[in-house]
Amino acid sequence: MRYAETGYHLEIDLTRGNIERVETDPKETELYLGGLGTSAKLLWDRVPPEVAPFSPDNLLIFAAGLLCGTPATGCNRTIVSTISPQTELMAFSMMGGFWAPELKYAGYDKVILRGRSPNLVYLWINNDKVEIRDASHLQGRGAVETQDLIRKELNEPKAQVAAIGLAGESRVFYASIEQGRSSASRGGLGAVMGDKGVKAIAVRGTQDVIVARPMEFLELCKEVLDYIKWREENPIKGVMPILAGLGSPQEMKVHDEKWHTENFMWGNSRVRRKGFWTEEIAKEWTESMEKARTRLVSCYNCPMECGATISPPGMPTYMMKCFTKLTYTMAAFSDLDFGLKIAQRATEYGVDGFSTPQVMAFALELYEEGILTDEDLPDLPAETEDRFYYLLDKIVRRDGIGDVLADGTYWAAKKIGKGAEKFAHNTIKKHEQLPLKLSMLNPIYFLMYSTGEKINITQIEGQFPQAPFPKREQREAFVKDWFQVPDEKFKQYFLDWELRGENSIPYYPTPEMCCDIVDWQERMHYIDDALGMCAGLSSFPLKPPYHIHNYPKFISAGAGFDMDEEKLTQAAKRYRTLVRAVNIRRGMRRKDEVPPENHWKKRFPELEKELIDTYYKYKGWNEDGIPTQASLHELGLDYVADELIRRGILSEVDDAPAEAAAAETEQA
Ligand code: SF4
Repeated sequence: MRYAETGYHLEIDLTRGNIERVETDPKETELYLGGLGTSAKLLWDRVPPEVAPFSPDNLLIFAAGLLCGTPATGCNRTIVSTISPQTELMAFSMMGGFWAPELKYAGYDKVILRGRSPNLVYLWINNDKVEIRDASHLQGRGAVETQDLIRKELNEPKAQVAAIGLAGESRVFYASIEQGRSSASRGGLGAVMGDKGVKAIAVRGTQDVIVARPMEFLELCKEVLDYIKWREENPIKGVMPILAGLGSPQEMKVHDEKWHTENFMWGNSRVRRKGFWTEEIAKEWTESMEKARTRLVSCYNCPMECGATISPPGMPTYMMKCFTKLTYTMAAFSDLDFGLKIAQRATEYGVDGFSTPQVMAFALELYEEGILTDEDLPDLPAETEDRFYYLLDKIVRRDGIGDVLADGTYWAAKKIGKGAEKFAHNTIKKHEQLPLKLSMLNPIYFLMYSTGEKINITQIEGQFPQAPFPKREQREAFVKDWFQVPDEKFKQYFLDWELRGENSIPYYPTPEMCCDIVDWQERMHYIDDALGMCAGLSSFPLKPPYHIHNYPKFISAGAGFDMDEEKLTQAAKRYRTLVRAVNIRRGMRRKDEVPPENHWKKRFPELEKELIDTYYKYKGWNEDGIPTQASLHELGLDYVADELIRRGILSEVDDAPAEAAAAETEQA
């Protein structure tokens, strides 16, 4: 008997049109948990580094987290993973909404796509009846529109549909997969889906997901719900409104955008808008939002209402995802009305709300600099807002310059040349980051940015406060009920963190403390991504309802195998290392672990080197960021060590980088 999981994958070979229901090995669940963990294992086993992102041999995996479909509040994430066209590394993006629980109820833990369909198709998973259906009539249709059309065509109003828009069909490197009030947006997963010829996957399930010890499990769920309620009534004091509560991060409800609008760099991530947030703007934006916002909405089995249905006058209703509220508006130096309107078109096209506005602002900056000309941008409108629509339409069709811009700023700059590279300045591992620019280097975030494999800033923030509280009494009050910490030492780290003086950033927290903090934050994200938990209730906010102390109980009572904190920590470390190994095998090295040069105004090269050196050592990686043979052995990943040695990436005799790897680093 399998608990919490179904024990089956759905394997679809799109080239041959073959569909298989494959039983999985329960031992793999104990070792890698599920969701991201077992998907990383599949990518390691089945996608060698020679496979290009747009090869039929690349896999596109839709995974429901281990606890999705159980009554655990907020556990609804679909983890979509593949090899990214943008970074050429492993991409894994979490999609909220309703799709993953539905897949579980249909009887599957994952849908694994391989091959490439000769014609555009969609998949219809209706419990154990699975079909590949023609989608030629859906070609060019919007991602949201497609979901509705498929539900009507199937006469299944309860089917959950994940779909791509025109951007995915055109293989735009930052195309998203849209579903309900959510999307898997980062890393170009929509482009891989388009390359495979799959317009959408519709799912309907009516079976049960069984937990091992239901009464115990429900008691744990009740504790979480009670805590959420208490936290909503008792927001954390002394932090910005968005950090005071739970959820991710309530952008639809909270109207105070002073911090985001003034501290990020807008346009092409270059212009800080100090003094932007006036009373007048606050009033105007609140009115715009409340006029367009028709309803607050939640993901499956969650009371938090982080999303909203938006109905801009004269346009179809769509669901807005948190940060998209700001990205288009601010990148175009426009107002919220514009942002809400263009986001509707962007959602239908299916593009990532972080990358897309930056790419468009980048193009306009190149035009202002004379690097792109009227020849590249024929009939370019005069107004910035119109220019954004113009560029968006060109990108999703790969029309003219849109074909170059559709590859993202890193690759586009290389193709354009003429000095364009200096304007593509906000990427890590070839991927656009949030346009956050700060003054003083923060050592914790330096490590999170540099060494994170998720390539997504919102997912690399965590449970340790982002800055010290000014007074010791405030810090003492904060740590008093901070039971989520894995170890008491974290309280001391925070208590001693001062705004100024010896114990202030960048030299405090010390590199050793930073290693502990980053490791804890990262561990929680990786656990969420295997269980299918929303980061907004766990790894992202301060003092969340899910943490390292109650997660083992959820897993034991839910999945029915013994779990404790140590075993869970070890499992998370195992598949976290496996994700790194996939990327290392694809060529990622220390030289790639570099945040944008201007991310902080004040940089400290020696300290940054020490931070990376110390962290690599802490993680059991060699000086090039490659997991050592000994650390792989300790995690039961000898098969990874053997492969890295066979490929000349690790040396058999010691843990220094093998000659080939060392030479590669020198050349970079
Ligand atoms: S906290 Fe918000 S984003 Fe997370 S599951 Fe609940 S509604 Fe969805």
